[in-house]
Amino acid sequence: MLPKSDNIVAIATAPGKGGIGVVRISGANLLEANTPLIKFVPNPRKATYTPFYDAAGEVIDQGIVIFFPAPHSYTGEDVLELQGHGGPAVLQLLLQQCLKLGSRLALPGEFTQRAYLNNKLDLAQAESVADLIDASTAQAAKSAMRSLMGDFSKVIHDLVAQLIDLRMLVEAMLDFPEEELDLPDVSRRDIKLSNIQEQLSKTLELAQQGSLLREGAHVALIGQPNVGKSSLLNSLSGDEVALVSEVPGTTRDVIRQTIQLNGIPLHIIDTAGLRDTIDVVEKLGIERTRSTIANADVILFMLDSQKGFSSEDQKILTELPNDTPRIFIYNKVDLQIKQPAHPEIDEAQDIVYISAKTGQGLPLLKERLLTLIGWHQEAGVFMARERHVQALEQAYKHLLDASSELSRAEFFAEELRLAQESLNTITGDFSSDDLLGEIFSRFCIGK
Ligand code: GDP
Repeated sequence: MLPKSDNIVAIATAPGKGGIGVVRISGANLLEANTPLIKFVPNPRKATYTPFYDAAGEVIDQGIVIFFPAPHSYTGEDVLELQGHGGPAVLQLLLQQCLKLGSRLALPGEFTQRAYLNNKLDLAQAESVADLIDASTAQAAKSAMRSLMGDFSKVIHDLVAQLIDLRMLVEAMLDFPEEELDLPDVSRRDIKLSNIQEQLSKTLELAQQGSLLREGAHVALIGQPNVGKSSLLNSLSGDEVALVSEVPGTTRDVIRQTIQLNGIPLHIIDTAGLRDTIDVVEKLGIERTRSTIANADVILFMLDSQKGFSSEDQKILTELPNDTPRIFIYNKVDLQIKQPAHPEIDEAQDIVYISAKTGQGLPLLKERLLTLIGWHQEAGVFMARERHVQALEQAYKHLLDASSELSRAEFFAEELRLAQESLNTITGDFSSDDLLGEIFSRFCIGK
């Protein structure tokens, strides 16, 4: 833990110009150290209009000062908030003066880290602060807020409480051989275990949805030159990002763009046409294409409905990773009435007919895409991270292992302990310093 006397300071508002800009200081005894800045002692939680002074006593800016004494502040320490004019130069002057008065520049996420260390937030809530700030869609912001309010943490705490209850029952049973066990105890144990398993599995489901909302999915858009990949990307995003041209091979490089579908960020990789070429630049593009395809969650395989499925397409198809879910998209249906036959039609294949030009078929394509990436919009999704999903999966696995150890009480008890430990890593009740460093270093400075 950091020494209590260490005062940290940062500009809390985003870089650039704005109506107001906020400099925030957190630490112990910061009033005394910072008196030269405002030349009076502010009352707790009262906004006071005041000049801000530099070392020579000259006025740097005028604004509002608010003092939040510990523990009733964001960090749980004394916090002094200086609200000045939102210009980069004036805020720098204010910051420099705070540094001269003994504060040091805060590390990324350090304010929130202190809030966590002072038990103002648990780890899942602290992470949701960063997720709320980073949220790129309204839905992601709402879910992050739910986590920040403690919805996710509450579910985890409930599960842990039930696990402790079950562990206590099992510990009491440990002293008796299997044949002497009290039958009502055995049935209570089994009911409790199955309740926890069921609840954990529901939580995992919600966390997976939340993780999708935060991380999004990677989609590779594949097809021969000129089938309409860039046009589709443009219609999906409603934005002219890719270069659309009549000349095959225009989209030479991998283009990444994030679009939103129902609030889910989709990281679309619009690839260079996969084809044999002697052009060196295009060859490089094609190489990059292959490696990005290998990492995609979903492949959109695009075809020109006028031309149908050619031997060239067959060649591309055989090069794709077998287990990545895919949708075959026949584009340019506005140019013909008859739907082209797909040579390998079978029940398992997902085929959609669209016109990137007129928008025909796009809603169906979007719906299929969302299903393939696993989005089924549960109510009450809370923002979760990949590490939360992994911890829940770990806990679930330990509970499964526990069910196969019913006859060996010590092993059963140990699996329950491990399941609880996994859940505790989510809220930070049991977390290594390495993990904390990793989590908070990804915050922005000033938060
Ligand atoms: P890419 O090489 O696969 O990215 O293909 P482009 O998006 O550059 O499209 C190639 C050409 O096909 C352009 O002239 C587009 O305007 C045209 N095109 C794309 N989609 C459609 C469509 O649905 N209908 C029609 N009629 N033309 C399309």
